[in-house]
Amino acid sequence: MISEKMMELGKTRSVIREIFEYGNKRKQEIGADKVFDFSLGNPSVPAPDSVNQAICDILKEEPSTVLHGYTSAQGDFEVRKTIAEYINKTQSTNVSADDIYVTVGAAASLTISLHAISVSGDEIITFTPFFPEYRVFVEKAGASLVTVASRAEDFQVEVEAFKKAITPKTKAVILNSPNNPSGVVLREETIVNICKVMKEKQEEYGHEIFLISDEPYRELVYDDVKVPYLLHYYENTLVCYSFSKSLSLPGERIGYILVSNQMKQAKDVYAAVCGAGRALGYVCAPSLFQRVVARCIGQTGDISVYKKNRDILLAGLTECGYSCAKPDGAFYLFVKALEEDANAFCEKAKKYELLLVPGDDFGCKGYVRVSYCVSTEQIENALPAFKKLAEEYCKNK
Ligand code: PLP
Repeated sequence: MISEKMMELGKTRSVIREIFEYGNKRKQEIGADKVFDFSLGNPSVPAPDSVNQAICDILKEEPSTVLHGYTSAQGDFEVRKTIAEYINKTQSTNVSADDIYVTVGAAASLTISLHAISVSGDEIITFTPFFPEYRVFVEKAGASLVTVASRAEDFQVEVEAFKKAITPKTKAVILNSPNNPSGVVLREETIVNICKVMKEKQEEYGHEIFLISDEPYRELVYDDVKVPYLLHYYENTLVCYSFSKSLSLPGERIGYILVSNQMKQAKDVYAAVCGAGRALGYVCAPSLFQRVVARCIGQTGDISVYKKNRDILLAGLTECGYSCAKPDGAFYLFVKALEEDANAFCEKAKKYELLLVPGDDFGCKGYVRVSYCVSTEQIENALPAFKKLAEEYCKNK
């Protein structure tokens, strides 16, 4: 007898992976340059040169047994200290190495945080559209995911709807800004309102409601948009960060959790984070890349490429008659499909070799995600295909 639940998870590939695999097959059949694959969120700009330089330097400087050995479970002390100092410098906070737990990317930051705080029967709230893996992570931690619809026109949180969704079972709220898949950055006013409701509800229910800030796209913002740092708005906050997108290192699996030391039970929550990391078998994050990110902290790949891609794609799609909320960050557009059934729309798009992801798994029917972390040339070449697709809908009206 094996776990039916795990077997099911393993057998059902995510819709994004499904489309990506289809794209690979299609590229072999007709040539990579003829397929406009907008399915994956894999950074298209290379990691900054400083990453390779740091790897070379570290290999020369550190004794091999230390470099390739286990680090402390929560991460090398000097690495955590560097991360804490960087956060203090950039966010005017007062965190220390003892508040940081180094992880294998945001996915691990989330699973560890959720396991650390959840008990069976808890509810975790998030807002549509949301990263589909949240459901998997939340359910694995024994809780259930409650989703609250965001405002359709701009994907900002509807605070009244949020208020109605909180119950005595609510253990945490996950916020993801800049958002995957909408690219929307939550406004400060929205965050203040969300936190106000959470504070009132904590008071009313007499227990903590945690705020989990999932922020792998923090640095990927354009036009001087600011991403508010949630530690300043709410005491019971855990920040789940990753270097996957900022340093273009998704395959190296490196990130961290910051447990706010403003929580009343900060030490216990941090201990629970360490316990969850242990129970999930993480042991420690990769030793070499802990050191690499400490040396490269504050740097990013060339993010200007994403802004250029966003501008070309947004202008091009709008001209063809598509509509979407203006994305201030990340590298996704969440576009309204030209028919109600986004799956049917994506199937039609395939005729023009456009590979788009239906929004259903992100909790929003009738939308598609377009990942613009691709070459600018691909975007320019794809615009006529988007136009033909829109014309097909016009003709059939
Ligand atoms: N959270 C969101 C919103 C994401 O988009 C992703 C990855 O795309 C993750 C978490 C997981 O990131 P990581 O690769 O760092 O595990």
